[in-house]
Amino acid sequence: MGQQIRQAHFDVVVLGGGVSGVTAAAAAAKNGRKVLLIEAGPMLGGELLSGMSIDGLLNARGEYVVGGISDELLNECREMDGFIGPIHDYRLICYVCVDPEVMKIAVVRLLARYGVTPWLYTLAEDVVVDGGRITGLVAVNKNGRTLVTADYFLDCSGDGDLAVMAGAPYELGAPDGELRPLSLMFRMSNVENEPFLAFGRDNPESLAVGESDYIRAGRTDAQLAMELYKQGQPSLFFKSDGPFLRSAIESGELAPTALIMIMPTSAARKEVCVNTTRVAENIVGMDAAKVSATMSTLMEQVWGCVKFLKRKMPGFGNAQFAGLAPRIGIRETRRIMGDYVLTLEDAVGATKHPDCVAKGAHHVDIHQDGLKQVRIAIGNGGSYDIPFQCLLPKGLDNVMVAGRCLSATREGMGTARTMGPCMAMGQAVGTAAAMCIDRGYRDVRQLAVRDLQMVLRDQGAVIDGAH
Ligand SMILES: Cc1cc2nc3c(=O)[nH]c(=O)nc-3n(C[C@H](O)[C@H](O)[C@H](O)COP(=O)(O)OP(=O)(O)OC[C@H]3O[C@@H](n4cnc5c(N)ncnc54)[C@H](O)[C@@H]3O)c2cc1C
Repeated sequence: MGQQIRQAHFDVVVLGGGVSGVTAAAAAAKNGRKVLLIEAGPMLGGELLSGMSIDGLLNARGEYVVGGISDELLNECREMDGFIGPIHDYRLICYVCVDPEVMKIAVVRLLARYGVTPWLYTLAEDVVVDGGRITGLVAVNKNGRTLVTADYFLDCSGDGDLAVMAGAPYELGAPDGELRPLSLMFRMSNVENEPFLAFGRDNPESLAVGESDYIRAGRTDAQLAMELYKQGQPSLFFKSDGPFLRSAIESGELAPTALIMIMPTSAARKEVCVNTTRVAENIVGMDAAKVSATMSTLMEQVWGCVKFLKRKMPGFGNAQFAGLAPRIGIRETRRIMGDYVLTLEDAVGATKHPDCVAKGAHHVDIHQDGLKQVRIAIGNGGSYDIPFQCLLPKGLDNVMVAGRCLSATREGMGTARTMGPCMAMGQAVGTAAAMCIDRGYRDVRQLAVRDLQMVLRDQGAVIDGAH
């Protein structure tokens, strides 16, 4: 149709405005580069806006294993009274919670502070590749097409779109096609803490607690439920094989689920997020038609659970439905294959690597259909290292990945995809891109990892230590 393609140039282009893209863009801009952040949707922050807890920032011992840009973001939330934590689940992990409405502002403040240019409503459609380098990305929005050139491209698209368009190898799901379920988070406000927590304390057999030797530490379910009560936060996880949920699922009152996970979002609104819905049909997250078709089922599950909680859960009698996450949650799509592949053994063995640029601490989580979910704890309540090589797609010189499309086995990704490590990986690739440009490196592999580690350490990242 003869429409002319526009042109734009930035030092670094980040694809994807989820948690890893936001931190990658902030880190590259903080280190002096002109950064474009491209996002197909209408908001920045991804699952940070869903109301879910931020997992993998701390290990099960309660030590922070991620820092730097994540601290800046959480401090923004704290200043707006939108930060809660750390919280212990007395099951497997420690985590922090945020007010997702406040987080919307915090993310934009962070990016504005460092002068990142955001392009919302913009899809990356294609790339121009020359040898092992991406030289340009074709972005499409209502202005038409723009060829964006840059020195470095960071793939934080969750799906690895950029790396795949440039020819990187990838894997998708299990060999038999299994993929983690899709879910939709929702929130309820005006929840009364005391009766809710007392119900958990008095029904320990219904709670998911003490799933690792480290957390259990010889304690009974009742003792762990008492710890949750004493903690005082509206944070309880009910398991499908406990009497409370089992009877609701068997009677058809509640859709089949592995857990109902309830965690706080706002003390002022007495509000919690509920993570429980699921469509486990091995839907590929890039298939827009199939993902869209799950909406009705997920929304009916949400409403069924709202009614169930109001009817049956102490503390929820006068609670109100307070909102849905902005999008259907997609847990698993492509894993880009890089110079190193993070494995189950790396994670559960709390393995340390000399080329560590980020850490993870969440258990390996493999959601399945029906009531099933596999959870494997990280050894001794510790953390594992994510080597820089997990962020370097095979065969590409000026492209890095961060977030859930990192180079990992399905199990490795089942822990590293949590938001804590996504932030740490984002910071690592943003910083690395800025350093490579400063030094005139055309191939990221010219950058000595120890030099990157030095800058990351200076800027608050956690990459050392035995935790
Ligand atoms: C249902 C569910 C429950 C979870 N529970 C938790 C939890 O309790 N705690 C926790 O810490 N983690 C949890 N996770 C995991 C975690 O939230 C995600 O793995 C993480 O947020 C992924 O971040 P990301 O930045 O890698 O990718 P995404 O959040 O997927 O962000 C990628 C962004 O890129 C954009 N994009 C993709 N392709 C293109 C393109 N071609 N052009 C333009 N834009 C594009 C997308 O619109 C998207 O916004 C959960 C995830 C889900 C889905």
